[in-house]
Amino acid sequence: MSQIIFELSKPGRKAYSLPELDVPDQRIEDLLPGNEIRKEPAQFPEVSELDVVRHFTRLSKKNYGVDDGFYPLGSCTMKYNPKVNEDVSRLPGFALSHPYQPEELSQGSMQIIYELDKYLSEISGMSRVSLQPAAGAHGELAGLMIIKKYHEELGEHRRNKVIVPDSAHGTNPATATVCGYETVEVKSNPRGGVDLEELKKAVGEDTAALMLTNPNTLGLFDENIEEIANIVHEAGGLLYYDGANMNPILGVVRPGDMGFDVIHYNLHKTFSTPHGGGGPGAGPVGVRDFLVPYLPKPMIEYNEEEDRYYMDYDLPKSIGKVKSYYGNFGVAIKAYSYIRALGAEGIKSVAEHAVLNANYLMRELAEAYHLPFDQTCMHEFIITPKPFKDKGVRTIDIAKRLLDYGYHPPTIYFPLIIEEAMMFEPTETESKETLDSFIEAMKQIAKECVEKPEIVINAPHETEIKRLDEVTAARKPDLRWQG
Ligand SMILES: *Cc1c(COP(=O)(O)O)cnc(C)c1O
Repeated sequence: MSQIIFELSKPGRKAYSLPELDVPDQRIEDLLPGNEIRKEPAQFPEVSELDVVRHFTRLSKKNYGVDDGFYPLGSCTMKYNPKVNEDVSRLPGFALSHPYQPEELSQGSMQIIYELDKYLSEISGMSRVSLQPAAGAHGELAGLMIIKKYHEELGEHRRNKVIVPDSAHGTNPATATVCGYETVEVKSNPRGGVDLEELKKAVGEDTAALMLTNPNTLGLFDENIEEIANIVHEAGGLLYYDGANMNPILGVVRPGDMGFDVIHYNLHKTFSTPHGGGGPGAGPVGVRDFLVPYLPKPMIEYNEEEDRYYMDYDLPKSIGKVKSYYGNFGVAIKAYSYIRALGAEGIKSVAEHAVLNANYLMRELAEAYHLPFDQTCMHEFIITPKPFKDKGVRTIDIAKRLLDYGYHPPTIYFPLIIEEAMMFEPTETESKETLDSFIEAMKQIAKECVEKPEIVINAPHETEIKRLDEVTAARKPDLRWQG
């Protein structure tokens, strides 16, 4: 095992050499109030440049990402994001522009935001889109704030409930709660969709909105979507579309046409920003025409006569600002570049291949595992290790065994309504050869589950670290080195 960087420390060793200062030194005491200054210097490791480079390079090799291999994490769309879009977002004209630059000097950047609003609106069937929210959950919050303000303007103060299906992503009820709503859960029917009778019982004069993911987290498209929309609208509620996973519907079907009023997108899932490392991302919020006045401000508009883009702050009904400046602009550029490069045909083929890949993988894996919903899936699907229950093999064991085969595991134990769920999303960017190799690994593991289950139950065997206490690692991370 290589030494960690603190153990390499030698007093006085440095990773830089600078010439003597030939200007007056800025004293820290002149810059910060006394109580803000450390009494003793921080105990950083004292190492050479080479030590630092090797340390971080070594750490980077312990990581696993889409650029290393297949990453079928359901609901996360860990697809390959073309590097050219990264290059475009780093063009100096974009990357070095300042948000306080005058409008005359920001026309190109403003045009990108304005046109991306148009493209995203066209893709979802909405009227306008704000790029301000920084993540999916943030887009949800902006969307519900819009819905809340709309009802309040109509004097409908009693609408204090948001309906969420039991298959929903955890951010949906969390957002409703943060926004001051009470969450009402509706059950799924045997085909994985919203149970219409349950929904009819749940809606009423107190309904503010239904939050729905369609296709849902089971990877299934709700066939009753038009009826669902009617039930909610007739009760005076609005329909919120969780568009985090747009891959399977791009260019094929639009939330606006399904009857939705508000939507958020995850640019860091669908539109070419890598994610999983903590950001930055973007969760634009889109709305139907009657909700446009409530969008976050400013909106970017185009004056045709003067051929000039400008910021419109004169939006009295707006929910206000939800993010500094105009959101994570670099993410918007990647989405813009991605959409422009694909064009209308390319956008549609993303959806077609995402759905084709998922169904191919699902059918192959169903030969060895249990398939709770034997229906055509969209971008993702669920299988379970039910056939190996009597051998004592659980989902966590299969996920860990996949690490030995060099794959990132699928999403596990979600959605909560399926016992021992394993949720796979292959995405459109994987080749048939990659999928076939993965299928072979999964079938091999299934065989092990029957013939020598202890190998699976005690996995992983090949990784540097075995089974972590992941909950404690996340809740109480021990980030200090104490020698
Ligand atoms: C990822 C996801 C979200 C939340 O997006 P964040 O950017 O992580 O906040 C919401 N809903 C669904 C269905 C998702 O997959």
